[in-house]
Amino acid sequence: MAKTVFTPPAREPKPARASVLAVRDAVQFPGVIHSLVVGREMSVAAVRQATRKGKFLLVVAQRETMIDTPRANDLFTVGTIAEVLHLFPLPDGTLRVVIRGLARVKVSKMGYRGGALSASYEPFTSDAYDRPAEIEAVKRECLQAFAHALDLGMTASPEVTETLPGIEDPGQLIDTLLHHSPLPTSVKQALLEEPSVVARFETFLKWIVRETQVLELQQSVRAKVEREFGQSQREYLLREQLRAIQAELGEDEGLTPEGQDYHRRLAESGMPTPLLERAVQELRRMEKSPDSSPESMVIRSYLDWLVALPWSTASEDRLDVRKAAAILDREHFGLDKVKDRVLDYLAVRQIAPLMRGTVLCFVGPPGVGKTSIARAIAESMGREFHRISLGGVRDEAEIRGHRRTYIGSMPGRFIQALKQCRTKNPVLLLDEIDKMSADFRGDPTSALLEALDPEQNSAFVDHYIDMPFDLSKVMFLATANSMENVPAPLRDRMELIGFPSYTEEEKLRIALTHLLPRRAVEHGLHPTQMKVSRKIMETIIREYTREAGVRALGRELSTLCRKTARKIAEGDDRAISVSRNDLTRWLGRPRYRFGTCGVENEIGSATGLVVSPHGGDILSIEVSLTPSAGRTPRVRLTGSLGDVMKESAYAALTYLRANAGKYGSADTQLDLHVHVPEGAVPKDGPSAGVTILTALVSAYTNRPVRRDVAMTGELTLRGKVLAVGGIRDKVLAAHRAGIRHVAVPIENERELEDVPMAVRSQMDIRLVASADEVLDFALVKL
Ligand code: ADP
Repeated sequence: MAKTVFTPPAREPKPARASVLAVRDAVQFPGVIHSLVVGREMSVAAVRQATRKGKFLLVVAQRETMIDTPRANDLFTVGTIAEVLHLFPLPDGTLRVVIRGLARVKVSKMGYRGGALSASYEPFTSDAYDRPAEIEAVKRECLQAFAHALDLGMTASPEVTETLPGIEDPGQLIDTLLHHSPLPTSVKQALLEEPSVVARFETFLKWIVRETQVLELQQSVRAKVEREFGQSQREYLLREQLRAIQAELGEDEGLTPEGQDYHRRLAESGMPTPLLERAVQELRRMEKSPDSSPESMVIRSYLDWLVALPWSTASEDRLDVRKAAAILDREHFGLDKVKDRVLDYLAVRQIAPLMRGTVLCFVGPPGVGKTSIARAIAESMGREFHRISLGGVRDEAEIRGHRRTYIGSMPGRFIQALKQCRTKNPVLLLDEIDKMSADFRGDPTSALLEALDPEQNSAFVDHYIDMPFDLSKVMFLATANSMENVPAPLRDRMELIGFPSYTEEEKLRIALTHLLPRRAVEHGLHPTQMKVSRKIMETIIREYTREAGVRALGRELSTLCRKTARKIAEGDDRAISVSRNDLTRWLGRPRYRFGTCGVENEIGSATGLVVSPHGGDILSIEVSLTPSAGRTPRVRLTGSLGDVMKESAYAALTYLRANAGKYGSADTQLDLHVHVPEGAVPKDGPSAGVTILTALVSAYTNRPVRRDVAMTGELTLRGKVLAVGGIRDKVLAAHRAGIRHVAVPIENERELEDVPMAVRSQMDIRLVASADEVLDFALVKL
């Protein structure tokens, strides 16, 4: 590699003698112009001598800064020969001198002459330039580091920054850098004595890199401090602004932290602004009253209600009739007509979501799946579901809430339901609307009507909440066992869907495919761990339940599941198959004897068929004759008979008396007692007419009544049999009780089509038009 040889400074003086300027805390480097004030007498003398003798001055650093009049030993032996460029005497006798360093020199033979120090000097080893590439590399490195340090805020005199770019000689460059950097004097002196340019650069580089690191650290600390300060400053400003806005709006000032929390939650609840303003007024009232005062407690629970209501939260409807059909089918066996009507209703809603439809009301006996269909509707629409039980509700306040005047008052059922649902568009099931009644506390029906009325319910006012709440997005469904007791205006609001009672076969299928697997899972059993055969299930249905729906059946199955779970918990790990013995052990003795007809035929007792809100049932009517004490025979009717039923009894008696001869009765002068057992159950309706007559005729004529026959039909005084209601349920009830022969008015022939084929095919149904036909059918032939 070719050696680049740098030319040393041109004006290097020859070895000679010159006066010495001893400096403290500084080192003069060659090539650097420097201005300094000279005050010590010996120094002033030295400068003056120098200016007289060719202007050269030896600048040498003092080893000890404290010594005022240094001797040869107190000074370093390497210094810089410099020329004096300017000299300004200052008024106080001192001098300002501008000198330029020329070269490193070795100093010797130092001594005082004429008040000034002087010494001989000779050139010190000149700069070593023999590693040019390395010099270039380290030079660039140093310049970059220096620039970076300047960027980071290191201070440097303008002379350096201005002159550096013009200096080509690396030795001079580094000396300039060294001269101006705040390195300790001892280091500077060592570097003055260092002939290797590379070594000088390297020492400088080490220092400047460290310095840069310190500067960077300093900067990040400063930034952090500024940030933190800035943040708190910003927060302070924002808080001030907020306070100003709130003061402007008349809000928040003076609220306690609890009050502020309520304020925030009220604002976030999504309630309409005018209502929010009223709520905030209440909040202020609360803040003004002492914490433990009754008023504060009343308001606090009121605000708790307000923040918990779904003022604007709604779930998204995903109404898809096909999916709804799938869900209804999955959850329910049979009920085809019901499902069909429900899907029609949903289809209308899907096509015209804004149309405000009527309220669907499911009418039928308990346990036939009304609630569970309603639940499935909610599921298929993706809405929350809540059941509001109206059974026994008499007080309007239960629907509309109590006024908020005392501790413990509560909103009405609707608001409570909405709070639980947390959405403003749930499906609310108004359960047992026929069990609601009015009394002196007001009529709950009117509140209900208001809630259901599409014209009014977007601003339903609950007395407790005392602000309008929008119920218009709620989907209402209702259930009832019968519509008889439902006030007409309410009935008009609703579209009725009748739920029929189940046949035995249907119950069996429901129990095996739905109820049992579901109950098993609810009791922590795997469906394979418990087996109930078809035969056993039939026994449960026949001997442990007698109902139109499957509610009691579900309860019995739950008991079986519990017992099975216990067996398993006690260590039995076989699949448990429920046996007849298990039934007796776990469910008790059979409650019903299937097939009442197994008992002997009796005189004076006939089996009738009735329907009640609980479905169809059989009913036995007994007649007893006793010798009359007076001249006119007495008639007694017992067993909670309603007026209509009493009238039927008298009509039957009159008919019998009028036709006494026909039935071979001799003595109509006997006292008569008609009794319908199960006295606690009120019974009414005209359909027992033919049954009463049959029992009467049997008693008078001593002809037994067939126990395997049941009957229904209204009787006229002329012995005609008129149509009655509930044929399907009545026939099913007879079938349930094991009775296979039924007399039905001929006028009801068409309704027999409603009786499922499976049942009808097992029954002997006699269509009757007159009393004679009934008697002929029901009385044992003698
Ligand atoms: P309701 O509301 O008519 O009194 P529920 O809906 O409470 O009757 O029904 C009682 C039980 O019987 C529920 O567990 C229900 O799922 C079940 N159930 C009723 N009908 C059916 C059916 N057709 N298919 C499956 N399960 C049924």
